Amino acid sequence: MKDISFILNHLGEERERYFNAVTPPIFQTSNFAFKNVGELKKAISDEKESYIYSRGNNPTTIILCRKIAALEDCGEALAFASGMAAISSAVISSVASGDHIVSVRNNYSWANILMTRFLPRFGIETTFVDGRDPENFENAIRSNTKLIYLESPNSMTFEIQDLEAVSAIARPKGITTMIDNSYSSPLTQSPASMGIDIVLHSASKYLGGHSDLVAGIVCGPREFITRLFNNEYLTLGGIISPFNAWLMLRGLRTLQARIERISATTVKVLEYLENHPQVEEVLYPLSPRSPQYQLAVRQMLRPMGLFSVRLASRDKAKIELFVNSLLQFIIGVSWGGHESLVFPALSFDEERTKEGYSNNLIRFYIGLDEPDSLISDLDQAFRKII
Ligand SMILES: *Cc1c(COP(=O)(O)O)cnc(C)c1O
Repeated sequence: MKDISFILNHLGEERERYFNAVTPPIFQTSNFAFKNVGELKKAISDEKESYIYSRGNNPTTIILCRKIAALEDCGEALAFASGMAAISSAVISSVASGDHIVSVRNNYSWANILMTRFLPRFGIETTFVDGRDPENFENAIRSNTKLIYLESPNSMTFEIQDLEAVSAIARPKGITTMIDNSYSSPLTQSPASMGIDIVLHSASKYLGGHSDLVAGIVCGPREFITRLFNNEYLTLGGIISPFNAWLMLRGLRTLQARIERISATTVKVLEYLENHPQVEEVLYPLSPRSPQYQLAVRQMLRPMGLFSVRLASRDKAKIELFVNSLLQFIIGVSWGGHESLVFPALSFDEERTKEGYSNNLIRFYIGLDEPDSLISDLDQAFRKII
């Protein structure tokens, strides 16, 4: 068993190098000095292992990357300016013109746009499949398939994929598997231990944890990360700033405590919602009523704070009134911070609604609020639309 609290509190930190400060400094520098030409030359020959310029390595960022790589049981990690910088850099590094991607359907909207609008301009095609059956991935594979892209669960309808089964399909064919693991955080789902090659995070969510930073992470084997560093990382330049790396290090100190609290509160709120007459359906893989419950229990260690419900009412005005009446749940996108959130699917335009995001679908995120306070808030909002 890996020691999570050791990783969060100590791993990667070299306190004796900065006056034994318990909190590492923010190395707010773009540039690094060299004693002589020989040393500069040596550094340039291996930038990955050197401090030359902060578009490459920065000491604050390195501490962060060591911790996340250890949490994800991966060789190494790189931190980016956003989840999307991480996702697009990792995807681009895995394909070339003429290649093919098989992706789970309904993946994160901007990852989807990368595959449907952006990559086709460079001759890269993507086939989207219903990920609930691993055979759908196998059937979509072509001779030029280089990447299988997963998001388990996805963040609006919460369908999950069998990670071991997909890995077993991809490995013998030499196809890279990649997963957006933001939903679970490294504490709840460990894709690398189930055979997935590359693990991605929007660190703007649980890893940062306080809704005060935007960042992304790519974790993978050392060889993959070295190639990514020397190519997309340095070339596209979507790096995290030292300050945001430091903010995330600060967020990580409480990751375990936050996740345990959010998980326990979510169970209570879900119990309330699953038994509520004004709720038609709860979309949540770890609900015992979910058709994917057995798989969810096998892959995921605990319930997490994000889920959707379909209200029994189809009346758009009532649904809007319900959402507007909530006081403890802030209306907004994103999730993973301290604040509980509500995001109604009816805020999408009609085109998106056609993808199965019915108007009565509402996404909730459970933050650090008291469970009773959240439940009584839901209660008063439901009463307004009886
Ligand atoms: C937010 C999010 C992203 C994008 O991350 P940013 O940090 O906003 O760029 C990717 N995947 C999922 C599942 C997300 O929720």
